[in-house]
Amino acid sequence: MATIMSQHGAGGGVKGRHCNATCHGAKKPWCACICGGRYHGKGSSEAAQQQLTKDWLGDDWEQQVETRRGVSARTLTRAEAAYELFQERTAPLLRAGGIRGGAERP
Ligand SMILES: [Zn+2]
Repeated sequence: MATIMSQHGAGGGVKGRHCNATCHGAKKPWCACICGGRYHGKGSSEAAQQQLTKDWLGDDWEQQVETRRGVSARTLTRAEAAYELFQERTAPLLRAGGIRGGAERP
């Protein structure tokens, strides 16, 4: 099962909540998932992951990644360019305290 997001229990324990194939492949509207229904019933975890990527990086992320690779002084892989884009686009959110985890606050 592909888990696209998870929230660990108190103290970082394994008891946590997850957004995975159970949510993505759901046929019924009811969901108790941490995604709040955002990725519910998308049909597949691949589709859910694509939506998640767009939510984080923006709808135009693939174009942005290619542009970034084109203008960079060094050779960037697609993943490196995407990670740079991720850092840029999430930095303001992290500063505002809108999301937690994944990176240290400055
Ligand atoms: Zn979910």
